[in-house]
Amino acid sequence: MQKFLLHTCCAPCGIVVIDELRQKYNLTVFFYNPNIYPEEEYLKRKAEVVKLCIEWGVPMVDNDYENDKWQKDVADGLETEPEGGLRCPLCFKMRLAQAAEYAAKNGFEIYGTTITSGRNKLAAIINPIGQSFAKYYKIKFYSEDWKKGGRQEKSNQMVAERGIYRQNYCGCKYSRRLKIED
Ligand code: SF4
Repeated sequence: MQKFLLHTCCAPCGIVVIDELRQKYNLTVFFYNPNIYPEEEYLKRKAEVVKLCIEWGVPMVDNDYENDKWQKDVADGLETEPEGGLRCPLCFKMRLAQAAEYAAKNGFEIYGTTITSGRNKLAAIINPIGQSFAKYYKIKFYSEDWKKGGRQEKSNQMVAERGIYRQNYCGCKYSRRLKIED
């Protein structure tokens, strides 16, 4: 089986993807989401991913929480952008660059991300970013729009069955603030 590194943003986005890919690949989950704010929320989302990995015996790589670096490299100057605006492609790039580098350095043939599971997350933006890093590191990227093919409904069901925590904002402090102001 090919070694597959799956960047996972949270359990509700990842549950169907992990379940599908673990049956076809030698799968490892990669948790690197420095965008999530505050840290308490980051830990909450990570804990739900850890639970899934334990349930299915899938190894998980727990990367650093670099929220200050995310703020500097991604958000400075783009604080007022809405979700889906100019800040988001940089946020995808930061996370996928780290996943691709880790995959290449640790003998993974292929990598992917669960981010396209998100309702407002466009595969047409995310997949080309994933492919560009794959090309750079000479590995493969698994292009998929994970919200399609009945997966969203399946995910809702699996999340409800397990009582998994589901957040109500994308992740960064700016998406959180907008939600609070709604
Ligand atoms: S809204 Fe979501 S994708 Fe966009 S910058 Fe914030 S955390 Fe990243």
